[in-house]
Amino acid sequence: MNREWRDTAACRDLGSELFFDNARTDEAKAVCSTCPVLAACRTDQLAWEAESASRRYYTVGVFGGLSGPERNRIHYPRKEVA
Ligand code: SF4
Repeated sequence: MNREWRDTAACRDLGSELFFDNARTDEAKAVCSTCPVLAACRTDQLAWEAESASRRYYTVGVFGGLSGPERNRIHYPRKEVA
């Protein structure tokens, strides 16, 4: 997997703490919203999580502008109730 996109990520000089603090999810997402490589980040993270059930189920942190629960809902979409 090519991860060269990380070189231009908006978070490259920030620590990971912000992105794993549930009380600061909106702040982390605000950084992602300015990121020129958001799409690549989101695609790679979802692909990495999809590789195993435990990664898919226990999604944590903000990646590609999505919180862990938001990515979990992508992996496990809820069925519409009629
Ligand atoms: S989308 Fe967010 S988590 Fe991903 S590289 Fe950009 S700033 Fe970092």
